[in-house]
Amino acid sequence: MAYSYDPENIFAKILRGEIPNNTVLETAHSLAFTDIAPQAPTHILVIPKGAYVNYDDFATNASDAEIVDFTRAISKVCEGAGVEADGFRLVSNAGRDGVQEVPHLHVHVLAGRNLGPMMTL
Ligand code: AMP
Repeated sequence: MAYSYDPENIFAKILRGEIPNNTVLETAHSLAFTDIAPQAPTHILVIPKGAYVNYDDFATNASDAEIVDFTRAISKVCEGAGVEADGFRLVSNAGRDGVQEVPHLHVHVLAGRNLGPMMTL
């Protein structure tokens, strides 16, 4: 489907340098920074620099270069945080039922403790 991107979302403001962030990694097409309200000892958000609402929008409309860069950026974040050995969880919420707060694609990298069952509903 066609998604409508809101350029005033908070991650767009971070990308424009209008609000600060704690950058972990920056690549040609991606930015990673720590989550402002961490849910685990390691909680890093990885976002593409392009205007994509969610993973579906990105996978459908991004260039191959952006997709490769973003995928590798997530790997580099895991490596940089030293979480590969003990494990980690990647989460990307989308839309109403996914309870997505910020309408710019982001993957949560969560690690640093046993994260428990995937859902507790
Ligand atoms: P989601 O519910 O998947 O859209 O998650 C949005 C995430 O963005 C939450 O985990 C928030 O804590 C995080 N967040 C919101 N504002 C900021 C910010 N200014 N810097 C870093 N993380 C943020």
